[in-house]
Amino acid sequence: VNEVGIKSVSRDILHDDLPRSLYVHIPFCKSRCFYCDFNTFVTPDQAMEDYLIRLQKELALIAKEATEPLQTVFFGGGTPTMFHTNQLVRMLDTIYENFRIAPDAEISLEANPGSATEKKLRSLFQHGVNRISFGAQSFNDRHLMTIGRLHDSDAIRNSVHMAQDIGFSRINVDLMFGLPDQTQEDVAESIAEAEKLCVEHISAYWLKVEAGTPFAKWQAEGRLPLPGEDAEAEMYEYVRSALRAGGYEHYEISNFAKSGGEAKHNLVYWHNEPYFAAGAGAHGYVQGIRYENVKSLGDYGACMDKNERPIASTRIVSISESMENTMMLGLRLREGVSTERFEKRHCVSMKRVFGHIIDPLVSQGLLEWHEGESVLKVALHAWPIANIVFEKFVDVDDAKIQGEIV
Ligand code: SF4
Repeated sequence: VNEVGIKSVSRDILHDDLPRSLYVHIPFCKSRCFYCDFNTFVTPDQAMEDYLIRLQKELALIAKEATEPLQTVFFGGGTPTMFHTNQLVRMLDTIYENFRIAPDAEISLEANPGSATEKKLRSLFQHGVNRISFGAQSFNDRHLMTIGRLHDSDAIRNSVHMAQDIGFSRINVDLMFGLPDQTQEDVAESIAEAEKLCVEHISAYWLKVEAGTPFAKWQAEGRLPLPGEDAEAEMYEYVRSALRAGGYEHYEISNFAKSGGEAKHNLVYWHNEPYFAAGAGAHGYVQGIRYENVKSLGDYGACMDKNERPIASTRIVSISESMENTMMLGLRLREGVSTERFEKRHCVSMKRVFGHIIDPLVSQGLLEWHEGESVLKVALHAWPIANIVFEKFVDVDDAKIQGEIV
């Protein structure tokens, strides 16, 4: 973000660190799912080729700022497996040619059952991708159609088995609950099917109706029969207890992993650490500045044709906002937020800044101190209503925080 000409000014020591993570956005899908508001396009093949050429240029520009070896790279979308095999390989080669990669780096790629052919998966494996995340969403074929997915449940099983046969040991399956007409039995069936696949990681997201999607329109017209808040809360409880009983640790509000299988790249976000981002509409966080790339393929192409970073907007993260983020993101994790880590990063004690928020939440039983008073966590029973806790850390009185750290 150097060319934006903004210098970071704060006592947030991580603001001085350069990222060790990179997110790469591939904004293509075969069709749009009815609930999706991501920056993704249904385009002809040529548009994908044009995009790749420009993405390679952007990656080369970002690499000039990357002084540290990358510990994590995440290719998301959209659907990265919409790229042909040779395009996937060229994209990976661009990373290896321009960046230093740590020997134990996590290189993840999102794939959709259906577009992840054996040839693509094998090439990805041979070119260093060591974690695959499949967008499964449900194992109920009727629900898959209801939400606009193009694959059926057999395609999920086939894709995961194919990846395992090729040698991928790190596989995630994304599931959704709270779908139209979904019952708790349906959720139980999807969880059981996902567990049968013996994957190391399962993400289970609550459907959120986003503005501008077909689901939002149908909801406004009264044509979206969602299960309702109480039923959805019961589904979440079921998902938690079933996966924990199946040997998965519930390490983040929506994420479950076998021991050691946590998503390292996502931990960077939850630890409020910096990361580069490339691709149309991608968001990055570098030296205390959050930036967003231009969203449209036309604008993206125009910037890259001039060999300019395609940054649409930047925002300096204030010291108080950074502290709030450390709390809100960190409390999503079972490991909680450590007072020592907070102090090391923000040069002020967590209790001094947020004691007036933390104490009442502890009294109400929503937050808990662990290891003496050195780690703060959301109480297990409060996870389904954790948003109530997170909201308390938003827009805390800036003047109060400034007063504490001066
Ligand atoms: S495949 Fe993923 S990114 Fe593409 S439309 Fe569906 S949910 Fe959105």
